[in-house]
Amino acid sequence: MNRPELRIHTERFLSNIRAVRERIAPSELMLVLKDDAYGHGLSWAVEAAERGGVGWYGSYDVRSALEVRRVLQADARIFAWATSTDAEIDEALLHRIDLGVGTAEYLARIVSRAQTLGLRAGVHLKIDTGLHRNGLLPEEWEQTVAAARAAEAGGHVALVGVWSHLAEASDAEDDEAQRVFLEAVNLTGDPAEAPQVLHLTASAASWWRSELRGSLSRIGAFCYGIRSADGPELAGITPVAELVATVVDVVDDCALVGIGSFDGLPSTLAGAAVGTPAGARALERIDHLASRVAGWPGMAVGDEIVLFGPGGQGEESATSLAERIGTVGEEILTRLTPRVRRVIVSPSTASGTQALLRGD
Ligand SMILES: *Cc1c(COP(=O)(O)O)cnc(C)c1O
Repeated sequence: MNRPELRIHTERFLSNIRAVRERIAPSELMLVLKDDAYGHGLSWAVEAAERGGVGWYGSYDVRSALEVRRVLQADARIFAWATSTDAEIDEALLHRIDLGVGTAEYLARIVSRAQTLGLRAGVHLKIDTGLHRNGLLPEEWEQTVAAARAAEAGGHVALVGVWSHLAEASDAEDDEAQRVFLEAVNLTGDPAEAPQVLHLTASAASWWRSELRGSLSRIGAFCYGIRSADGPELAGITPVAELVATVVDVVDDCALVGIGSFDGLPSTLAGAAVGTPAGARALERIDHLASRVAGWPGMAVGDEIVLFGPGGQGEESATSLAERIGTVGEEILTRLTPRVRRVIVSPSTASGTQALLRGD
């Protein structure tokens, strides 16, 4: 093994998904897949989650939503929330991808494309509840809902959902955001014709604040076992991946390990503890292509070093590593470059591990 490996455990992922679904029920899980499934690989995540019974998939843009559609065996629901070009809208409509809509202009373009193609667009209107990140302002809400309802009557739109995104900065702010959200939902008209799904919360609020959950919860981080930075451990949630590299040279009292900042490992992580065959040792320095780890008796080329991962004697997770440098686990995982091989560890494969095709 001369390239670093991100070892991805399918069983842990499925077990996290089970724990999340139990915790949030009766709210349904929408598995969020942005940033190539938080660096774990989108195809792997979709295939595994589908086996785990997940029925909703959320991806940032239409391009990755199409990738989700290609991987899915059954006709599950897919939601893409980035404002997209007309060409992307066409692709979304053809492949039954629901669109998140945060501006009246985007809604008008979707209606126009649906009319041209003779298709019906599944639309989730986004109310701005305070984050000021692509959402309809309360003062333009009623007019935009009316436009969506008119297009619905014409057969070009189905108003499937209402959604928003929380800051998760304080409970009070999130409470206020929910108030604005529910007011917007009330303004969609007769409760008998209410949109089918309401979604407001992501990992942390879905887990800790049951009163904020809608009928659907958009969750990424916790399914991959990424807990919130400076947040508590989560019962039943385990980091899905561990990052492993091997000793490539032994110099004086140190082991040189084949992973560096060019692989996406922040050089500011120097000083962290990593797992060696002899227990925890200091990661003394991170260079471009290799890193230096304090040595141990009998160290040899080929020894495996665990940069993070459960039970690895170094940092438990990408999050605990990230906390050392004031960032979040997602950043550590999504920065890893394609040179880091994604290796799927699945008990059902005879050899125990199976290389994913990505980057090889
Ligand atoms: C990233 C994201 C999520 C998922 O957030 P997690 O904290 O990873 O669960 C949900 N909704 C939107 C709009 C997002 O951008």
